Amino acid sequence: QAKAKGPGALRFFSPEMSSRARDRLGLEADLRGALERREFSLHYQPQVDLRSGELIGLEALIRWTHPVRGNVAPAAFIPLAEECGLIVDLGDWVLKTACHQIRRWSDAGLAPRHTAVNISAVQLSSGRLLDSVKRALDAAGIAPEQLELEITESFVMLERELSFQSLADLRALGVRLSIDDFGTGYSSLAYLQQLKVHKLKIDMSFVRDMMNNSGNAAIVRAVIALGQSLGLEVIAEGVEEAGQARYLRDLGCDVMQGYLFSRPLVGEDTGALLADFTTRHFTF
Ligand code: C2E
Ligand code: MG
Ligand code: MG
Ligand code: MG
Repeated sequence: QAKAKGPGALRFFSPEMSSRARDRLGLEADLRGALERREFSLHYQPQVDLRSGELIGLEALIRWTHPVRGNVAPAAFIPLAEECGLIVDLGDWVLKTACHQIRRWSDAGLAPRHTAVNISAVQLSSGRLLDSVKRALDAAGIAPEQLELEITESFVMLERELSFQSLADLRALGVRLSIDDFGTGYSSLAYLQQLKVHKLKIDMSFVRDMMNNSGNAAIVRAVIALGQSLGLEVIAEGVEEAGQARYLRDLGCDVMQGYLFSRPLVGEDTGALLADFTTRHFTF
């Protein structure tokens, strides 16, 4: 605990400073070197077609193994990486790593139709995203259609000018676009149609208690109907129970993702699961 030595003195770690704020400073400092120290990895969570039970997609989710703290949740470090600008390099690493993994699975005849990567609003507004995506696709030698980008609804709707051209360029390149956490933002239907995204991802918070919360069930139903009328694929995230999967299927939802089928897995285990599900379907 540093002592204040008169007016203007630096007061690092003064008693008033919460332990949370100190924690945050420490984390941010650690985050800066973590990429070079190779502390990040990607896990993959499968997406399952609700009608056929086929494993048709994956979502790549970043993991940070801190040398002292162990696993740090993305919710704890992604916002920090966004604030200090590190997200741009980190996002490049995610794209590159995911594309290389897709390439290895393709060579082994195991790649699903699409693998999704989460894109931060900061990456999208950096002006570098199109180039990063092109480089990652080229370096791995995969088709753009194999890559899907997940962008959160709140960003797309709040920053229309900023996001429209970038998204149009990415779409023209041939990558697939998915709106993440759908239902939590303020989508304009006209704008959604102009954007010509491929997929809507119903936020987990609505799926979680849709079975006993009529308000959430209404939102889930409305998103599915919207997807159907605009010709978009609809996926539900956070599906944990077979009852939820059946309910979603009966409402016409296309795809599900959640612990019911699988938790996010390391690359090796994902490959084994992909191999297993080339000959078998999921039933619920
Ligand atoms: P998201 O993209 O909405 O991802 C879904 C989150 O739900 C993931 O948490 C996933 O592990 C979790 N999840 C999946 N199925 C279930 C389920 O059945 N039940 C419950 N309770 N949770 C489930 P995770 O991996 O902690 O990621 C949290 C968020 O961090 C992501 O939300 C995404 O916004 C962000 N994120 C993750 N990886 C990346 C990345 O590579 N880049 C960027 N920019 N953001 C990322
Ligand atoms: Mg996502
Ligand atoms: Mg999501
Ligand atoms: Mg979410």
